[in-house]
Amino acid sequence: MKNIAILGSTGSIGTQTLDVVRRNSDLKVLGVSAGRNIRLLEEQIREFHPLLAAVGDESAAADLRVRVADTGTKVVSGMDGLLALSAMEESDILVTAIVGMIGIRPTIEAIKAGKDIALANKETLVTAGHLLMPLAKEKGVQILPVDSEHSAIFQALHGEDRRQIHKLLITASGGPFRGKSRKDLETVTLQDTLKHPNWVMGRKITVDSATLVNKGLEVMEARWLFDVDLDQIQVVVQPQSIIHSMVEFTDGAVMAQLGTPDMRLPIQYALFYPERRYLPGERLDFTTLSQITFETPDMDTFLGLPMAIEAARTGGSMPTVFNAANEAAVGRFLEEKIGFLTIYEIIRSAMDRHSLITDPDLDEILETEKEVREWIESRW
Ligand code: NDP
Repeated sequence: MKNIAILGSTGSIGTQTLDVVRRNSDLKVLGVSAGRNIRLLEEQIREFHPLLAAVGDESAAADLRVRVADTGTKVVSGMDGLLALSAMEESDILVTAIVGMIGIRPTIEAIKAGKDIALANKETLVTAGHLLMPLAKEKGVQILPVDSEHSAIFQALHGEDRRQIHKLLITASGGPFRGKSRKDLETVTLQDTLKHPNWVMGRKITVDSATLVNKGLEVMEARWLFDVDLDQIQVVVQPQSIIHSMVEFTDGAVMAQLGTPDMRLPIQYALFYPERRYLPGERLDFTTLSQITFETPDMDTFLGLPMAIEAARTGGSMPTVFNAANEAAVGRFLEEKIGFLTIYEIIRSAMDRHSLITDPDLDEILETEKEVREWIESRW
């Protein structure tokens, strides 16, 4: 029996993780959590009988306590609640399906407690990879990627000598606005942005896919996960999302992982690694598949990717500034307070005004995030 706790069980990755649990009787859910969606959290408590439920919002937690008083589940709240869930004594693995930098402290707490991490929450690795990866090594903890691109690379590397990596090829769908000009982007709406061509995901990552910020975050994530130089990472647009990513080795061989777009596959792979299990669902049919095409990303129009690479090259606290500015900007875009292109403007301005901290510790990362958010909130 493998015991799991899920940070963000009510979201897109969280609910698909629970789908994987439903099909595998040797997985037990010990902890669930949400920001404030206690209606769904209550359903999950009644179905999975976890020991602990953590709710970000204090008043929602108080409500949930009343609703589930007849169950054996203890309800905890706020950051302390998330930390308690992350380090539950009986759990083996933490699925980090929470969105945003708020995942940093719980993820660090879990690693300190020796829990393996099934990592979906890329913002944590982007901003604190230099702290997380050495800590995981020290504690003997596995960081198992859930992001489909990183899972594809992880699968392609299975059984290989990582010193033989020549290049990582991260694929991108190009998002809903692929082929559009900067002029076209001036008038796109929130509804247009939320229509991803191939994947159904949470709102924040769907916007990040449209700006190509998501691909930039993935480049930074890959660098930490696979310990490669930024120059060894190349982004390739593959609009059908069939090739989930590839590895080119020193002898020129390229290994790719292909499949239909279904996040349950990388989630299940992370939970049972290195075992593979049956997964029902649509399969690739090469007799009907007409084409797999490739393009180079349009870095002049979709500034999320080049700005992310710039932040990663600068290093130190700059990836935190890039990420925090993006989180704040996307929050405003989702509330329809700013237009699509203003997301880029906000990230650019935040990066330009920042005084770099070369090797930030956790407090400095969190302080930088707070400062960037407050600055953005006071202006946009
Ligand atoms: P969702 O927005 O669908 O879900 C986010 C989850 O985090 C929800 O359970 C939400 O609770 C919870 N949450 C949000 N804020 C807080 C808070 N303050 N305290 C506690 N919990 C909180 O996101 P996704 O599932 O799409 O993405 C999750 C992470 O996985 C992101 O980092 C994303 O980049 C990454 N990822 C997602 C993929 C996907 O296919 N969706 C693919 C690859 C990576 P509530 O429901 O109450 O808001």
